[in-house]
Amino acid sequence: MQNPATFKQYLLKAVTSNSDTLKIADVVLSDKNLKAGWENFKYPKVNFESLDPNTEGSKIYHELVQNPDEYVKYHTQKVVEILYFSDKDSIVDVQQIDYTLKDYEGVSAKGGNSPRINIVYSTQHIEKSAKESLYKLDFETRGVLYHELTHGYQYEPKGIGNYGNNKTFWACIEGIADAVRAEAGLFDMSTRKPGGNWMDGYRTTGFFIQWLTTKDPDAIRKFHRTATELDVWSFDGAIKQVFGPEASIEAMWDEYQEFLKK
Ligand SMILES: [Zn+2]
Repeated sequence: MQNPATFKQYLLKAVTSNSDTLKIADVVLSDKNLKAGWENFKYPKVNFESLDPNTEGSKIYHELVQNPDEYVKYHTQKVVEILYFSDKDSIVDVQQIDYTLKDYEGVSAKGGNSPRINIVYSTQHIEKSAKESLYKLDFETRGVLYHELTHGYQYEPKGIGNYGNNKTFWACIEGIADAVRAEAGLFDMSTRKPGGNWMDGYRTTGFFIQWLTTKDPDAIRKFHRTATELDVWSFDGAIKQVFGPEASIEAMWDEYQEFLKK
């Protein structure tokens, strides 16, 4: 806005110049400073490359995302806002993200560690989503990005080995990544069903962690922070750290299951 001011009503006029298709993305009207607490967030440098530019998926991606660098940067801040309290936290220092589109069978993956990470996104997966609808493509592309960017910015649990050799480590990492995606509103929540175990990882664990925000709006941030607070990380230890010594993972999971059955 050229002359910022507060009005009772706003009129948003959208016209197309030469085609029938009109795309509007992310119109936010707010009287709050949405960047409050995040003014000093350091955006990473983004290196975008399409390795297979002639694939249908690559072309569709460019239709959806006109400025991939800005698109990835925007989502890094959103991810960090869900994982951390403010820019004063010791945020994992990701300085560069190499983001590539590639023609392969799969969805997406993150590699490397801070300060430099890489994320690959499958053009075949883009094509599959686009076949359903443009809405589905947008929903899926953002959702997958939230998940992979979380891997770039999340703390790793201590004292229990690593991603490849310890199931609790793996379930924690993948659970938090899907919790962030769920918190961003980018999962079909009707796929949330009773059953499974907190150790199942991905959305089974992620939906559970996200549900904890019904008890404490900061539950995801606090749960994430336990990775630095506990010398030997465990789900039970994390639940106790967030909700007090009386709480336990078994009791919390049972309560969550009861909630799902309603
Ligand atoms: Zn993952």
